Amino acid sequence: EVRLQEAKDSIRDVIDFPKKGIVFKDITTMLKDAKHLETLVDTLYNQYKDKGITKVVGLESRGFILGTVLAYRLGVGFVPVRKPGKLPSPTYSEKYSLEYGEDEIFIHQDALDSDDVVLLHDDLLATGGTAKASIDLLNRFNLKNVFVNFLIELDFLKGRDKLATQYEVDSVFHF
Ligand code: 5GP
Repeated sequence: EVRLQEAKDSIRDVIDFPKKGIVFKDITTMLKDAKHLETLVDTLYNQYKDKGITKVVGLESRGFILGTVLAYRLGVGFVPVRKPGKLPSPTYSEKYSLEYGEDEIFIHQDALDSDDVVLLHDDLLATGGTAKASIDLLNRFNLKNVFVNFLIELDFLKGRDKLATQYEVDSVFHF
């Protein structure tokens, strides 16, 4: 579709960010354009509106941007997955490895329950470490079902294989 291709073309490649050798996909150049924002939200809404979603879970922090808009559009609540030290009430957490060292993500224990059908959303799937840890977090809740969605998937990094999940995984744009 032309509108989606135009949105894809508006994603900016930033060379050597955040460090040398990385080509960073910068979505701010897409999000600042009202017609691209509308295209993204309409596309995601149409894809997920009939799946029985009851909550959108967004990953800090770029997953909060469209995650919240999408939750509003679907008429469901939004739940944040956050970095260390941010959530005030009892949490579940998962550690995952980065290129150098470890990181950990958190979710409130009372954020979801076993009746929920979750749409897990983040801006980008790279190596899959973040998304894998998020799926492991969600698995604490015995959810009815989970759908996993990214705006962008870097196919050559094969993050999808790392997820090794039975859940449906989909990305709007592939590079
Ligand atoms: P992964 O854990 O899959 O290696 O990395 C994915 C996470 O890193 C996502 O939360 C995403 O926001 C961030 N990330 C990694 N590379 C990029 C990039 O090129 N562009 C953007 N926007 N985010 C990235």
